Amino acid sequence: MEFSILADSFNKMESTRKRLELTQFLVELFEKTPDEVISKIVYLLQGKLRPDFEGIELGVAEKLAIRAISKSSGISIKKIEDEYRKEGDLGHAAAIILEKKTQTTFLVEDITVERVYETLFKIAKLEGTRSQDMKIKYISSLLNDASSLEASYILKILLGALRLGIAENTVMDALAIAFSGNRDNRKILEYAYNVSSDLGKVAETIATKGLEGIKKFKVILFNPIRPMLADRVKSEEEAIEKMGNNFAAEYKLDGERVQIHVEGEKVVLFSRSLENISNYYPDIIEKIPKAIQADNVILEAEAVAINENTGDFLPFQELMHRRRKYKIEKAVTQYPITVNFFDILYCNGKTCLELDYKDRRKKLEKIVKEDDFVKYIPMTIVKNNNEIKDFLENSINEGSEGLMLKMLDKPYQAGSRGSNWLKLKREYQNELGDSLDLVVIGGFFGKGRRTGSYGTLLLASYDEDEDIFTSICKVGTGFSDEDLDQLYQILNPKVTIKKNPRIDSEMEADVWFEPELVIEIVASEITISPIHKAAKDRIRKDAGLALRFPKFTGKIRLEKAVEDASTNEEIITLYKGQKKVAHDRNLI
Ligand code: ATP
Repeated sequence: MEFSILADSFNKMESTRKRLELTQFLVELFEKTPDEVISKIVYLLQGKLRPDFEGIELGVAEKLAIRAISKSSGISIKKIEDEYRKEGDLGHAAAIILEKKTQTTFLVEDITVERVYETLFKIAKLEGTRSQDMKIKYISSLLNDASSLEASYILKILLGALRLGIAENTVMDALAIAFSGNRDNRKILEYAYNVSSDLGKVAETIATKGLEGIKKFKVILFNPIRPMLADRVKSEEEAIEKMGNNFAAEYKLDGERVQIHVEGEKVVLFSRSLENISNYYPDIIEKIPKAIQADNVILEAEAVAINENTGDFLPFQELMHRRRKYKIEKAVTQYPITVNFFDILYCNGKTCLELDYKDRRKKLEKIVKEDDFVKYIPMTIVKNNNEIKDFLENSINEGSEGLMLKMLDKPYQAGSRGSNWLKLKREYQNELGDSLDLVVIGGFFGKGRRTGSYGTLLLASYDEDEDIFTSICKVGTGFSDEDLDQLYQILNPKVTIKKNPRIDSEMEADVWFEPELVIEIVASEITISPIHKAAKDRIRKDAGLALRFPKFTGKIRLEKAVEDASTNEEIITLYKGQKKVAHDRNLI
């Protein structure tokens, strides 16, 4: 398939944010796409080459892309950088530069989707000392043969800067329309996606085997399932209102969610965002097979750092020591964990998703044997306010964050956040209620003791409608020296020459980062702000919302994608909730 067809579609899609229009463009694209390429097209639409869990990272640094453009065009790096500064988008800058050049060169080889995809794949796989040069060679060979529009999209994909704002649901809508003639069939596609986490495979299946093929989708071992998520409640009363008077309460442990796939001695671990995290937990890999009494299983657990002497749970950030590439063996002994199981999703070749919670829990306790390392998450059945309060208090005393409340007779709803699971955290019971997960977009150099690190960070919330990150506050408190060091290590490689176009901020920072990191913040209040852009115009015209007295909680949320950060809708709800509390107390 000619790459120009895809580049034209990208171009159209970039010009709109309207979901119906985007869906229509996608339907038109899918109808032109041969079956063998449709999965590739679906991955590329999302700026990927394969589903996330396969861990194939495309990311090419801007500097390298600039060198490749220079090689292909014969134009100096300095000139390209100037054009880039002017345009604010390297893809567009390259298009302008190559436009001038292609007038004098002959096209050598056709650019097809297959060729672009395979070249990108080779680039992603390259490692080692000579890899930089090879990458430049591959990129410039594509750019040589590409039209300026094609080149601009090749670069955007390579830089991870293709932002079409297409939600997975929109892709599924379009697939349902293009291949079954009915948007309502999206529900069937959703199930297939939730159990496979692979939208490319869903697309290929509906294109080649129709809805019948999609209905046959099953849970597959070593292929992660999209996690079930919980709604939040603020009080025991609200929980009872939503769940009745007979449900399960489990400790909400403050660790990392791990989906554990086991068959014999083979163990693979996936994070909440479905990344393969097996490397960080060699202890789980080694010890789990002995605790399992089944041929194969998929289990869910919370890995929690513990104090070796007392067995007490330690806060989440202790686990971050395991995120080091090297010295992981040392981290394993220095920062021991327990693995606390709370669900079973698959067992002996069969899915368990359709089983009720109570049957899944029973099965879990039959299949998994407890020992020093392997535990079940503490659970009890609660019937009234007092029983919930008691259990909440116990859980907090033992170092957990609160409770997860679960309906006894409901299945596991992969990939959805609903009210069959509720979370009740201690913090929700005070005023602002929740902590927020915010995206780090900018940094300010530290002074004094903080020289050599970013003493203050500029943070953003996520605007789901626009798929952008809107500034909400600067934060400079709550950081230990160790936090500052660690943040510097993580953030330094994310510094960009130009502010990423997905960042919406009037406030200037010393440096801008690629929006890739989420950290947790508490604050005393949400206020109207003339400067910040979060929820702009939603509460008051020409003003946004900002956080007052924000403080870092110590949690760097490496397991969260930036699209999982607190959204402007959530901020608005919290803002309104805080007004209501003040009103109820006659403060306003
Ligand atoms: P949070 O920011 O509160 O961690 P989240 O957005 O990551 O929330 P939620 O569905 O809102 O996800 O909350 C569930 C999370 O709590 C899970 O992802 C898991 O890591 C953790 N957790 C701790 N204990 C449990 C439990 N008993 N059952 C399910 N999840 C648990």
